Amino acid sequence: LGGSISRALQQMSNATVIDEKVLNECLNEISRALLQSDVQFKLVRDMQTNIKKIVNLDDLAAGHNKRKIIQQIGVDKVLGQTVLLYWEGVSPNGVAIFNELCKILDPGKPSFTPKKGKTSVIMFVGLQGCGKTTSCTKYAYYHQKKGWKPALVCADTFRAGAFDQLKQNATKAKIPFYGSYMESDPATIAVEGVERFKKENCDLIIVDTSGRHKQEAALFEEMRQVSEATKPDLVIFVMDSSIGQAAFDQAQAFKKSVSVGAVIVTKMDGHAKGGGALSAVAATKSPVIFIGTGEHMDEFEVFDAKPFVSRLLGMGDLSGFMDKLQDVVPMDQQPELLEKLSEGFTLRILYEQYQNLLKMGPIGFSSELMPQGRENENQAKIKRCMTIMDSMTNEELDSVNTKLMNESRMMRIARGSGRTVREVMEMLEEYKRIAKAWSKMKGLQNLRRRPNMST
Ligand code: GDP
Ligand code: MG
Repeated sequence: LGGSISRALQQMSNATVIDEKVLNECLNEISRALLQSDVQFKLVRDMQTNIKKIVNLDDLAAGHNKRKIIQQIGVDKVLGQTVLLYWEGVSPNGVAIFNELCKILDPGKPSFTPKKGKTSVIMFVGLQGCGKTTSCTKYAYYHQKKGWKPALVCADTFRAGAFDQLKQNATKAKIPFYGSYMESDPATIAVEGVERFKKENCDLIIVDTSGRHKQEAALFEEMRQVSEATKPDLVIFVMDSSIGQAAFDQAQAFKKSVSVGAVIVTKMDGHAKGGGALSAVAATKSPVIFIGTGEHMDEFEVFDAKPFVSRLLGMGDLSGFMDKLQDVVPMDQQPELLEKLSEGFTLRILYEQYQNLLKMGPIGFSSELMPQGRENENQAKIKRCMTIMDSMTNEELDSVNTKLMNESRMMRIARGSGRTVREVMEMLEEYKRIAKAWSKMKGLQNLRRRPNMST
């Protein structure tokens, strides 16, 4: 995906003259990629129209100002390769494609925001398996960590075991819960639960509901009844990122029966790019507030349009990478590092980044480069790693993975640095973890695949 967009942009910037035909070809390529990422056809078409409005057609006709046009669209060169740009900070002259997509994700008004210390009732809706129960718990846990008093109510009487699942999740997170094995009317249970937790002064009462495999009249009637009974301050539509083009109809169907005010997109750790989220926002006129990035309780992130759109365009990881780069590497060294990284993440690169981190002090200590651990231990750990690396040969430092390492080399390094073999191994594990995290950045892979292509 990212590849085809890069190619299209490359072609555009290679063209001696950017005329309407060249621009159309590029926009078509981007549109194709977006459609494949499940962005709705209408939204893609609108975006195309808007971009053409932004790009001055007179300039196009005259065939000059190529640089300006490219910048307006939001294209620039990184490592000699043309890439789509992500946000204003990088390309001050405009990032039209990127901005248009961010705009679709912004319904223009924020969702209802619960306030700590006041009681809010939040109802979760969505089809079966989309991740409601999981997201309810994550949402509760997220707030609990910030000192809130959340509670969970299970109003799913449709699926066998639904209450047990919620109970298990809630117990694990030490969050109070309410449900029933006897009562079969969801609205009744929901009201009982909400009333109980209001008495207990909980500030976030979260109502989990049932789903169905398909959009059925019975489900929407049930949602209407639960909503009417509990009068939620906010209804959150939960959407599986892999539902594809069905997102618009699904979101709209829920919106028609209850007043959806926010969206959560789950399973963003999977392959789906989540383009359906744009449709869900358009259908419900509500913002995405969180994304689910795994099955665990803490794999839950506040939604941020920029990385989301970058990922949609197949460049997400590059933008994250640029962020990290700006965190840890001084500005003037950044192009050089990119150049080096295009050949792989070596131990020497890690060594240099550790040097940078130590220079920066504690504020730099939030990035991927950091060893997992507590802040005050990190400095010592970095220094220890660097001592170990000081005993490595150039060949070892410049190799991309640890294949070169064997027992005798590790023993030699351990002796030379006054550390144990075990510590050397730990250091190498740390390197592998970081190298893996960096290699997962897709944009970086694109750069690596065609490192010397210049335009
Ligand atoms: P519900 O039927 O809507 O309540 O969906 P559940 O909360 O029971 O989730 C269905 C399945 O999706 C479960 O196996 C969850 O562990 C899984 N799941 C939910 N959210 C995520 C997520 O963000 N990432 C991943 N990988 N799995 C998730
Ligand atoms: Mg459930």
